[in-house]
Amino acid sequence: MTTSVLDRADQAFEAGLDTVLDPTLGLLHDSAGKVDDELLPCRANNPELWFAESPSDVEFAKALCRDCPVQTMCLDGALARREPWGVWGGELFLQGTVIPRKRPRGRPRKHPIVA
Ligand code: SF4
Repeated sequence: MTTSVLDRADQAFEAGLDTVLDPTLGLLHDSAGKVDDELLPCRANNPELWFAESPSDVEFAKALCRDCPVQTMCLDGALARREPWGVWGGELFLQGTVIPRKRPRGRPRKHPIVA
């Protein structure tokens, strides 16, 4: 089942959050300000995780976002702003687009390791 932007706006309104139709960073801050800091994973945990170098830390941040009450608004806003990097709304952004995972540092192997 898919959720339209209008459905998400209704859900956000019912939750007492501002509309997601204008997903600016200011709106996200205003809406997040209405939520207890302990319910916002990027405030309750080390915010460096959301911009971590380590792929495992990035995956951990993405997982923490799943329980965030403003996840949809956060993701919509990050997509609209074309965030240059970091985890936003449970997705990893690089140069304005969502990428599936962070690559580890260093040059990729020429030949895969056979187990
Ligand atoms: S969804 Fe956005 S506001 Fe919520 S924890 Fe993730 S980055 Fe923070």
